[in-house]
Amino acid sequence: MNLHTDLFIGGRWRPGADGGRFDVVDPADLSTLARFAVATERDCMDAVDAAAAAQQPWAATAPRERGELLRAAYSVLTAEVEQFAELMVRENGKSWADALGEAHYAKEFFRWFAEEAVRVPGDYRLSPAGDKHIVVDRQPVGVSLLITPWNFPAAMATRKLAPALAAGCTTILKPAAETPLTAAYVVEVLRRVGVPDGVVNLVTPVPPGPAVRRMLDRPEVRKLSFTGSTDIGRELLHACADTVVSASMELGGNAPLIVLPGADLDLTVEEALLAKLRNGGAACTAANRFYVHSSLHDAFVARMDAALAEVKAGPGLDRTHALGALVSVAERDKVAALVEAAVAQGATLVRGGHAGRTGAFYDATLLTGVIHGSPLTRTEIFGPVTAVIEYDDVDEAVRMANDTVHGLMAYVFGEQRAATAVARRLEAGMVAVNRGVASDPAAPFGGVKQSGLGREGGFEGILEFLEEKYLALTV
Ligand code: NAP
Repeated sequence: MNLHTDLFIGGRWRPGADGGRFDVVDPADLSTLARFAVATERDCMDAVDAAAAAQQPWAATAPRERGELLRAAYSVLTAEVEQFAELMVRENGKSWADALGEAHYAKEFFRWFAEEAVRVPGDYRLSPAGDKHIVVDRQPVGVSLLITPWNFPAAMATRKLAPALAAGCTTILKPAAETPLTAAYVVEVLRRVGVPDGVVNLVTPVPPGPAVRRMLDRPEVRKLSFTGSTDIGRELLHACADTVVSASMELGGNAPLIVLPGADLDLTVEEALLAKLRNGGAACTAANRFYVHSSLHDAFVARMDAALAEVKAGPGLDRTHALGALVSVAERDKVAALVEAAVAQGATLVRGGHAGRTGAFYDATLLTGVIHGSPLTRTEIFGPVTAVIEYDDVDEAVRMANDTVHGLMAYVFGEQRAATAVARRLEAGMVAVNRGVASDPAAPFGGVKQSGLGREGGFEGILEFLEEKYLALTV
């Protein structure tokens, strides 16, 4: 496979100014896959210069033309979808099914926003005094810095690049240090289809903090779109305040999954497995806390246990493995420590609970008797651990579900009307009712409370990269 391991600035792949490199590691066997270029602050300033120089011509490019470039990128990724998926298996450790699923999801953002590029809404009104026409245009916000995490290395990049480019913004993409190869591949596809020089740039500063601060200090940078942890998001919001940069934030989650009395257990277990094990549990939307009504608790645990017993774990390049590796040994050890602490606090380990072979593997794990409010229920587990809490009263389940600073995703299983009523009471930007997966490029993705600001995908996603301009015209 032809890997791109350099920075992409002003339409050219190039090493960092001081020649530095960092290792990209395959978490399945801890081998070094590649040595990726470190971007110096000087490189990052060059990326801002390149994006700023390209901004005006890109904004002036016809929306149809911008849309067609995105559509071409979608077609290339469709033709190369297996290669795209393999890259994610290698640098992220995820299973083949998860990687292929992400590859399809990721490329859909190019198709969706190719269509949205030509549908940017404007507005026209007459003033109440009747003296003027109020015309509202929407124009690109300007140079956009896009920072993405390692857990969905393709989809988090395309979910930002596609709306930014559709809106007419130029971009600087900063992927996570664990997974720069997938991002570099997406950028190369955009180059291949003819996106003009400077419109897309890729930098990987190590450590990222100082260089990102300096980029945000540049007056040309008008937008930060960040996906990652709430702690770093909070820090970046402070940084944005200094230059009053518009910020969209997709931050951490702590999704509750509520099983109501009367839920269909076959459906619930089938979908709960998806909500828990998609991406090996390393998803901001992953079901983190399972609140199961006492009338179904024992049956649910028995069925979940049986289902988890069938989950084959191992390296993702073997397509029969449903559960891949975590992204790093550090992540694996974090998951193991959370499980050990829960058991020390009295939880029962029904299944799993150990790190497997060499590499960053952790068993599919099931715990019951987990205490609401314990670290396991307050932390994003980001691993294949099902933590079950039994409840008797639905109001109490709703209270516990909402008892978190996060509010990204929630799941409810039960009879349709009862489940929908509970869904409306949950403090989350997204609620899946009798479903284990909700993500869709056509839907607005995002959280409330400390899970974020703004939405990605849907009709809303492009608006994050546009701002209103009001023209007052005399009647
Ligand atoms: P993270 O540590 O916050 O890192 C995310 C990105 O921010 C990476 O590119 C990282 O670069 C960069 N970064 C780290 N410190 C920075 C700083 N001081 N200044 C500027 N950038 C900085 O998150 P992660 O561990 O990669 O990802 C997991 C988190 O992302 C979880 O909390 C998960 O819930 C969240 N997430 C949210 C969504 C959503 O849509 N809401 C989706 C996916 C993931 P380096 O890699 O170089 O450190």
